[in-house]
Parts: sequence; C-alpha cells; structure tokens
Amino acid sequence: MNVSWLEQAVEEVKEEVVALRRDFHMHPELGTQEVRTSAIVEKYLNDLGIETVRMFNTGVVGCLDGAKPGKCLLLRADMDALPMQEENDVPYCSKTPGVMHACGHDGHTAMLLCAAKILAAHKEELTGTIKFVFQPNEEEIGAAFLVKEGVLENPRVDASFGMHLWSQVPTGYLGLAAGPVMSEMVTFDITLTGESVHSSDPSKGVDPILCAANIIQSVQMLQTRELAPMDSMSLVIGKINGGTKGNIVAGTVEMQGNMRYMFDGSDESERCPRVRFSRMVENIAAAHRVKAEIKYQVEDYVVDNDPEMVNFVKTNVAPALVGDDKIIEYRVMASEDFSEFMSHNGIPGVFMFVGVGDHEKGTDNPHHSVNFNIDEDMLPVGVKAFVKMAMEYLK
Ligand SMILES: [Zn+2]
Ligand SMILES: [Zn+2]
Repeated sequence: MNVSWLEQAVEEVKEEVVALRRDFHMHPELGTQEVRTSAIVEKYLNDLGIETVRMFNTGVVGCLDGAKPGKCLLLRADMDALPMQEENDVPYCSKTPGVMHACGHDGHTAMLLCAAKILAAHKEELTGTIKFVFQPNEEEIGAAFLVKEGVLENPRVDASFGMHLWSQVPTGYLGLAAGPVMSEMVTFDITLTGESVHSSDPSKGVDPILCAANIIQSVQMLQTRELAPMDSMSLVIGKINGGTKGNIVAGTVEMQGNMRYMFDGSDESERCPRVRFSRMVENIAAAHRVKAEIKYQVEDYVVDNDPEMVNFVKTNVAPALVGDDKIIEYRVMASEDFSEFMSHNGIPGVFMFVGVGDHEKGTDNPHHSVNFNIDEDMLPVGVKAFVKMAMEYLK
C-alpha cells in the first residue's frame, strides 16, 4: 500500500477525530446508557454506507465488505464513561455532573469512526470484511454480552484488533507484546459465620473477626508460596464489615476483594488461583470453627496476545505509526474485556497500548482519576493503526 496515500487520508481527518473525541468527552454516558453516543456512531456509519445492527441495546456493529470475499477482521472501540466528577480545567470538560470519560474510551470511539470513514472510501482495495464493533460498558464486561448475542458470527471473525490509549506509556510510544498483556480479574465475596457471645468469655462463642484477621494475612502467601515467582498476581481485600458492638464477639464478617493474575485461571485445576484461595480460606476458617462461604465472579479473562498476530502488527503495521525505537514491550495488571473478542473465545488477536502520557501536557495521570486526560496528538496515530491493520490484514 502507498504510505503517502495513508498519510494524506489521516491528515484529512486530523481535526475531525479531535472534534469527535471532544464531543464525546463533553457528553459522557455510563455503561449500558450510551444512548447519545451510539446514536451518533450509528448515523456516522450509516452515512458512510455501512449497515449496522444493534447489540446489547447500545452496542453498534457495522460490517464493511471489500471488493472480494475473504477473512473477517474485527476492530473494536468502547464507548462507556465512568461515575466520576471531572476536575480538568479544559474547554471540553464533561457537561454531565458526576460522569466523566476517565479511561480514554471517548478517544477510542472517535478513532474508530474516522478509521471507518477512510476504510469505507477504500473498500475496493480490501479482500474480506471488516467488522466494526462499538461496544457498551467495557468497565463491566459488556463484551461478554455482545459475544452471547453473536458478535463473533455471521461472518465468523478470523482475527481481532483493539487498542487502548494509555497514559502510563509515554506519548509517541506503542506498547506491544506477545502473550498475556492484561490480567484475568476475579472478584470474591467471603462470608464468615461465627457465634455471638459476651466478650468476657469468647470461648463460649465462635469469633469470625479473629478468623478474618488470619485469612487476610495468610492469603497473601498465594503470591509468595503458591505461585511461581514469575507468575504475577495482585490480591487485595478492599472491604471488610463485621460485628455490632465492642463488647460482643461478632456473629458474622463479610469481606470483598479481588485477585488479578497474568495467566488463564479458568481450568479449575489445582493451579487455578480460585482453587488455591478456597483451600486456604476454608481450612483457616475450619481451624477457627468458623463457617466460610466464598462466591467468585470472573470479571475479565486474561488478554493473551497471539504471537503470530503480534509479529504481523510489528512487521506490517507498527513501523508506519512510530519509529522502531518507540515500540516497547508493555504489560499491565489492569483488566480489559477485549479478551472476549480474542483469546477467551479462541480468536487470534492483538491488543495494543497507544502511549498518551505527557507530563508537560498533563496527560500522564492514571486512568480512572478525576484529572485523567489524553494527548490528542496521538488520536491520528490510532486512526492510522486501525486503517493500516485492516488494509494489511485484508490485502
Ligand atoms: Zn477503564
Ligand atoms: Zn478502558
């Protein structure tokens, strides 16, 4: 493909992609409530001649057929914002109190729309189909609902490509790595049931608070004594609640937390962190004569980049985006439901980080913070990445 042609096309949407992003930024919508955003996306795609269907209410999926039949490539953007009050002092600040695009999904949606515009104008050069997926509620596994509604079928998706604008990667850089790049996340609820009694003689009851204290300390051994040193994990108990009064041995304790790890923990073998965690909690509880009940919810599966696809992107796509010295190996313990469009459902895919962190511009604050922002100069790079990926994969 002619690179100067691509440069030219991206140059032409440079202002539009920023304008679209700012519009979405000013009108953020929470997950599953992306009514305005999805209406804009739908109309934009339809105006390009791309037919769309709705999935999971606010999800918009459009297919663009090339000149000849061939493989199907899924390109994805997420549309949801977060329940936070924006504290940035910018002219395009959120107009909705308590709701903010604090993860960069406004940028993702804008980038994929502009990429669709360029690709629709060049569909005669494509062999195969592009499936544009504008997804609701990424923050709460919206992708799983699209998969249930058949987003990976008709036509069957052969490969998928997604990106996250990332403030923890310096602007101008791309984070790209084979294998697991984002963690599997499991949340848990533990209920410990003991027996209330007067604090003057705890032996007459069963104390779930002392039991909880032991559990909280001991489960940290999961990282250091149960998993291999190179198998990363984070385990946090973020909420604990129990008891009624200082002079009464508590009747129950409830704890909530989550664990994240960089491998597939879905097999429920002894290697599975949930199985190990249960064994520890249940046996510590038994030692205290406490009844333990544990409920798990797998929130996101590991984002496991296909090595061949990563190689494809490194060879055919990334060099058109940034210099060779600006492509870095990057992995992060955060989670993403993009795994649903790829590794978790057996589809080779790549999830890439687009660095937007610039201290001078104030765009290096963490995701999900009230002063999160992105370096908009990287939006055209994201557009180009989507277009180049599609043009190369569907050659
Ligand atoms: Zn997020
Ligand atoms: Zn995000």
